[in-house]
Order: sequence, then structure tokens, then C-alpha cells
Amino acid sequence: MAKNRPDEPKENPESVTADIGVQGIEALPQRVKRYQNAKSDALDIAEYIGTLPDQQALAARVAGCGDYLVFRHYYTVDLVRLHGARLCMKHLLCPLCAIRRGSKALKAYWDRWECIKAQKPLLRPFLVTLTVKDGPDLEERFKHLHKSQRELWMRKHRGRGSCLQGVEGAVWSYEIKRGSGSGVWHPHLHMIALSENQPDAFELAREWKEITGDSHIVDVRPMGDAAEDFMEVFKYAVKFSDQPVEDTWHAYQTLAGKRLLGSAGAFRGVEVPESLLDDPEGLEDLPFVTLFYRYLRGAGYSL
Ligand SMILES: [Zn+2]
Repeated sequence: MAKNRPDEPKENPESVTADIGVQGIEALPQRVKRYQNAKSDALDIAEYIGTLPDQQALAARVAGCGDYLVFRHYYTVDLVRLHGARLCMKHLLCPLCAIRRGSKALKAYWDRWECIKAQKPLLRPFLVTLTVKDGPDLEERFKHLHKSQRELWMRKHRGRGSCLQGVEGAVWSYEIKRGSGSGVWHPHLHMIALSENQPDAFELAREWKEITGDSHIVDVRPMGDAAEDFMEVFKYAVKFSDQPVEDTWHAYQTLAGKRLLGSAGAFRGVEVPESLLDDPEGLEDLPFVTLFYRYLRGAGYSL
């Protein structure tokens, strides 16, 4: 049980939710501070990558991520938007891009949830966690989890009885870390499942064991209905600060290009914008002041 229980602590949930929280000028120093911490971690990762053969270009790209940040303050409505930045887009390597990507995904799904809720007020969100047994081969374990999740949904579609029968929509993300007890890879997924009634955890555990053959470890719990509550699913895919850079690199090499966010039913088709900058939606015609921040090693961002 201890070896592959659903993990409890959240990784930097405040970083991602804060990005879609208060957006006035008074929140900007805190926001820049969050990016500064992330950028500083990215520099450590870039330094490591730079020591690997043939990875100098990638190292330079990650090292240069967020060297400058351009914000626009739309002062008549007191809203700040990240307007420009050179970002590396390597969200499995770079904590700064991971924050931005998480907050973009959170916003896109949150907006969809508000539409769904208006149409089907009886639906409630439940947090479902599914795990597989820990193992030394990350790629093999990830595939196993991915395939098992697919099979779980196939069973629902076949309509011959499934504990997800009442689930009308779901969005899930994969998270990769090492098991705290085992020290080997422990991929798992967190899913927001929309249903009128709470899915039966006991039934789910039985079905999951039947599918995976090696794990009955699942968790089902009601969620609060605020953006922060959705965070569990949109936080980082890897725990940068908790793992050695070698592990971050290995996870990147194994998982780059794989879809780590999936959806079904009412959550299908939500588009997470490619750009990691803010959408100036509705602000285009308003006057603004430009705030230009530059990162200096050892000193951080300065205006
Ligand atoms: Zn980046």
C-alpha cells in the first residue's frame, strides 16, 4: 500500500493558480518574484544540460528563457498582461514554462467548466487519482498507465457496466515522480470527473486492478468548486524542486512529445492556446503602460 498510494502534497499550486488570480498592478511584484524563482531553477537545469554531449543548443534555449518579460498595464481597468517574452516552451524542463502552461490549461478548462455548469447544474467535480505499481523503467510504466486509462474509458464506451458510467466529462493529466518509499518511478494521473453522483471508489479499485493487473490504488473524492481546487490536475507534470536534474532530464527524454493532458465527454475539444503569453482579450483598444523587466544573473529581474 505504502509503495504506490496516491500522493497528497501539491507542487507549487500557488504558482499556477496565482497566475489566473488577481491581475492588477499590486499583484505584479509577487508575480515577477514567482517567475524569478522559476527562472533560477531553469538556469540550474540548463547548466546540467550544457554538460551533456550535443545538447548545447537546448541548454542555451532553456538558459535564455524569460531573459526579459514585457508586461502591459491597462491602467484604466487595472489589469496586467504578459505581453512579450522569449520563452523556451520546454515545459518538462523549464519551471517557468511549466507555470505558464499550467495556468493556460487551467484557464481554458475552467472556462469550459463554467459553461457546463450553467447547462447541467447537477454535475459536480470529483478528483480521481489512478496509479500503477512503481517500477524502474519510466517508459514502460508510463505506457502501462496510459494503456490502462484508455481501457478504463473503452469499458465505459462499450456500455457493459463501468464504474465511470455516470461520468459525463473528464480531464486528466499525468504526473511523474519517484515513489517516496520505493525510489523507482511512480507515474500516476489525476482526473477531474464530472458526475451527479460520486463514482464508487471500491468498484473503481476493483475494475482498475482487473485492467492493470498490478494496482488497485485509486482515490476518489469530492472537489471544491473554485479554480484552486482544479489545480491538482493542472500543476506541473514533474516536481522540479523535489528531484535531481538527472531525473528531470530523464523524464523529458522519455516523455517529450507525449500528450500529458487528456479529456473526454463534456471536456472534449477544449483548446489550450499554444502561446504562453497572456491573451489581451477585450483590452486591445485600451491605453496601457509597458513594463519591461530584465533578468540579471545573481540579481534577478529588474524593471
Ligand atoms: Zn522556458
